[in-house]
Amino acid sequence: MKLYRPTEECGIFGIYGHPEAANLTYLGLYALQHRGQEACGIVSSDGRSLHVHRSMGLVADVFGDQAIFRNLPGEAAIGHVRYSTTGDSVTKNVQPIKVDYSRGSIAVAHNGNLVNAQMVKDELEAWGSIFQTTMDTEVILHLLASSKQNALEDRIAEALGRLKGAYCLLFLTETRMVAARDPQGFRPLCLGKLGDGWVVASESCALDLIEAEFIREVEPGEVIVITKDGITSHFPLKKSEAAPCIFEFVYFARPDSYIFGKNVYMVRKDFGRQLAREHQVDADIVIPVPDSGVPAALGYAQEAGLPFELGLIRNHYIGRTFIEPQQSIRHFGVKIKLNPVREILEGKRVVVIDDSIVRGTTSRKIVKMVRNAGAKEVHVRISSPPTSYPCYYGIDTPTRKELISSSHTIEEIRRYITADSLGYLSEEGLLKAVGAGENPFCKACFSGNYPITFPKLAAAPQLDLF
Ligand code: AMP
Repeated sequence: MKLYRPTEECGIFGIYGHPEAANLTYLGLYALQHRGQEACGIVSSDGRSLHVHRSMGLVADVFGDQAIFRNLPGEAAIGHVRYSTTGDSVTKNVQPIKVDYSRGSIAVAHNGNLVNAQMVKDELEAWGSIFQTTMDTEVILHLLASSKQNALEDRIAEALGRLKGAYCLLFLTETRMVAARDPQGFRPLCLGKLGDGWVVASESCALDLIEAEFIREVEPGEVIVITKDGITSHFPLKKSEAAPCIFEFVYFARPDSYIFGKNVYMVRKDFGRQLAREHQVDADIVIPVPDSGVPAALGYAQEAGLPFELGLIRNHYIGRTFIEPQQSIRHFGVKIKLNPVREILEGKRVVVIDDSIVRGTTSRKIVKMVRNAGAKEVHVRISSPPTSYPCYYGIDTPTRKELISSSHTIEEIRRYITADSLGYLSEEGLLKAVGAGENPFCKACFSGNYPITFPKLAAAPQLDLF
């Protein structure tokens, strides 16, 4: 039996009512590349049929040939960037997925992870459905196709009613585009306007690139139907307490984006300020682990009154090492990605700021690198609490066993990464910085409190460090 793989980290973009729909979708995906680097695709509609181009690879490579756009005609298009976890890195799993069924064609692009996909799939198979991919997203299309409802929005509402978990979805038919966000609003999704056309994107940085106007965020539980007559908004699902993902602010979203009512850069800077209040240390300079640690390091340096320096230089022409599918590449990755600046570090007491420690391998290599470049002391500060629990809602975190803080104390982690001191931002500090008084967040990766229950959480087995 083929088990379903979560869709994991992804970005989605769609545009309706623009003569250059596929071209603009390409640009939108380019701005969302940080959300997934393994594969991408675009489906366009010319009003009569859907056209597809999808492949493994980066956006600029997959859509590098201008001729491709001649085969993506029409004034509406949706696109997807994807990263999957291990296995199943095959073209049939690249999104958007398009199917033809009794009522025409439909394509879907999904960001998030459905926690009950396997259960629904088993049921559907028992009724005779045949699945083509190993993505949880395909379940949605089968539910849509088997719905007895007439109107597309009713079929979508019925399908969504069966789903549990995190999803931001974009559907495209010959004549419509539909955007949907789960009732908890785990992942970000925003709505924009470009001329007479409508745009939907995972993050606002994609709107900025194509000079679309940011209108608002798609609300948790909202379904927006876009046709040539304009947009209509629906709330077909039972209301739930919102639980947007705090890790989008910590690491995943781009700092220039506006998500969950806030600018990511400003939030990260506040994480850094709060971190400085909680974990002061006598030091000479503050350096970030680029790029994810930069805004927090600026906040830390300003609050602590210490100089901010770029002690590590990043090669920008490689992807995020963590989300390369092969283990061997990840280990080698830190060196390909970062190089220390000896002139900045030599003889200094250095505070190194990163956004998170997952397995601990990156921090260990960075501390070694900074020390080898002549630093006298290396103090590591992390602008989020210890990541002790895996995410089931679309962020690619490893199993509990591989998460260093699930089975080790902060002192043990400090010794493992060989830092002179180690301090994490507290959960209270994180929530204070993000203004969580007004908004609840999903912070299951730190607290283990999952807003939607997930089949059986294994106890964390001990990870041997030394
Ligand atoms: P590790 O070596 O496993 O401890 O990885 C820690 C590094 O991975 C940090 O520098 C983070 O910026 C980065 N990171 C944390 N979470 C993720 C994620 N879900 N995907 C990709 N990179 C991540």
